Amino acid sequence: MSTRLKIAIQKSGRLQEDSLRILKECGIYIDNGKDQLKARAQNFPLEVLYLRNSDIPEYVQDGIADIAIVGENVVVEKQKKVQILQKLGFSKCRLAMAIPKDDEYNGLEYFQGKKLATSYPNSLKAFLDENNLNSEIHVISGSVEIAPNIGLSDGICDLVSSGSTLFKNGLKEVVEILSSQACLVCNENISEEKQAILNDLLFRMRAVLAAKNNKYVLLNAPTDKIEAISNILPGMKSPTVMPLLKEGWSSIHTVINENDFWTVIDQLKANGAEGILTIPIGKMIL
Ligand code: ATP
Repeated sequence: MSTRLKIAIQKSGRLQEDSLRILKECGIYIDNGKDQLKARAQNFPLEVLYLRNSDIPEYVQDGIADIAIVGENVVVEKQKKVQILQKLGFSKCRLAMAIPKDDEYNGLEYFQGKKLATSYPNSLKAFLDENNLNSEIHVISGSVEIAPNIGLSDGICDLVSSGSTLFKNGLKEVVEILSSQACLVCNENISEEKQAILNDLLFRMRAVLAAKNNKYVLLNAPTDKIEAISNILPGMKSPTVMPLLKEGWSSIHTVINENDFWTVIDQLKANGAEGILTIPIGKMIL
């Protein structure tokens, strides 16, 4: 039987859809029966194990799965020996401390001697120790945000993305402990054969991630402005320049980081650029 790399992904919940999507964008198709615990890729030596999010670091450490897609926050909390290979850009959130919105907050001393509810006791303890704070940690497995309202704790340490759950529960975020996103993690001792499969997967993932952050840009500009525009949009090596039928005009094609695009628009227009188009990129290999 030929070797397959075993990847753990969340059985159900926030990370599952995006985890399967990134595999698909890597050209890997999974035979995905509902309620299956295991599935195989049709066209890549990969086996998917659907596991509980919070169990994933342990399964990877123990070699039940070779790799996994899991939140960095879970990796930090579970304190297992796994290697983080690549941040994947989705399921972004932060582990943060929050307190009742009407409480005055003058800094970390606020937490001295306070009772704090959390589902992330290890991460919270590390933070309190680092800051020489003596607080009482009260571990609860869900709905942490209601703890202060029902008198269970003074404050909380919980995952936050938009902050709307905190707001609805009359809390305000005061300190960020950790920022997190989904990442690809790996067992520390995988065989050479599996490493080769992993290298191929990582190569594809990095091409997909690079493409997501960049856009292909096309624009028309007066030919005598090509140099000025090339300085604004340097591209991967240098822009492609093609003459337009209209005399004195050229078409310039290049690649630009999504975040930079809006900041250079005014400079492009000031140099006579017109008909500016951006096109999403499927894969990008540098
Ligand atoms: P667990 O087994 O850890 O209880 P779960 O599968 O029940 O997890 P989900 O809510 O599906 O929980 O996923 C939790 C993960 O989603 C978190 O560990 C984190 O990486 C990510 N995440 C992103 N944003 C948030 C958020 N606002 N609140 C909670 N988790 C978030």
